[in-house]
Amino acid sequence: MRFDPFSLSLTRPLGTANGPIESREGFLVRVSANDDGEQVTGLGEATPLPGWTESLADCRAALERGDPDATTPAARHGYSLARADAEARETDVRLCARLAAEHGVGPSADAVPVNATVGDDTPTETADAVREMVESGFDVVKIKVGAREPEADRARLRAARDAAPDAELRADANGAWGRETAAEMLDAAAELDYAYVEQPLPADDLTGLAELRGCGVGVAVDETLASHAVAAVLDADAADVLVLKPMALGGPDRTLDAAQTARDAGVEAIVTTTIDGVVARLGALHVAAAIPDVPACGLATGSLLADDLAPDPAPIREGAMSVPDGPGLAGDALQALSHPGDS
Ligand SMILES: [Mg+2]
Repeated sequence: MRFDPFSLSLTRPLGTANGPIESREGFLVRVSANDDGEQVTGLGEATPLPGWTESLADCRAALERGDPDATTPAARHGYSLARADAEARETDVRLCARLAAEHGVGPSADAVPVNATVGDDTPTETADAVREMVESGFDVVKIKVGAREPEADRARLRAARDAAPDAELRADANGAWGRETAAEMLDAAAELDYAYVEQPLPADDLTGLAELRGCGVGVAVDETLASHAVAAVLDADAADVLVLKPMALGGPDRTLDAAQTARDAGVEAIVTTTIDGVVARLGALHVAAAIPDVPACGLATGSLLADDLAPDPAPIREGAMSVPDGPGLAGDALQALSHPGDS
């Protein structure tokens, strides 16, 4: 295994609960396997995200030691994705097909529905942005809420619905509300026929999340999974939908295990990136393609980066992201990354 550091700038700083991030730093991971005397290289990416995974220093240390584990999920993701890519290449199948076979599901999908995301803005601007997304082919749009007073956010939710009467709409509060506000906002979202509200309460309030369920709109958890195991969330009956991030869960294998556990409990699972480079985004795409009938996923994040590890070979058309042809992550499309010395 070898790994090389990279830094990718965002097109503009992204506000998070842990402060704004301006770039994504991580490691491109390569593992080699020998297929009948022919060298096969598998690609992975370890891009830690503050608040969700280990630090960049701990990630590097785990990769150097060669023993990434559950305490270093980004490092484990890089290694596990690279190995899975190499294995899929050796057996000449797409990564999603291999993952689906390994997890006893399948066949994998050729494309995955993806959602557009609309950030905080005035009701009018929110409506315009939603309309623009729907016109460009997305049928699922997620509205970021929680940065304004509840009354203002209610107006935004209504404006978005008026702008897109037929779209599936979701809201994401990123843990901004208390229990009382969350209950009021979920009632409003239910009335406007939203599919679900993501993280209406802080990550640790499993009891509160469980109490919000059943009011006519789904409850999704995202930040909660940074600090609570999937099993604990399911035991607490705290969610209708789990938002699974392969980078934070330790790799494609762990993510599919989590998705299966969720679905066995009657809970939906969607896959999202952690604003990663193209290698990890493709990894997340293959994971999602291996989940039967997966709802729209948060994979359309490439445009948030000003630069990337390589050109993105997975176009989005009509609200779906196509899985690239060829073995492994993307056939020959990432050749330049596999053989950095060649060009
Ligand atoms: Mg979220």
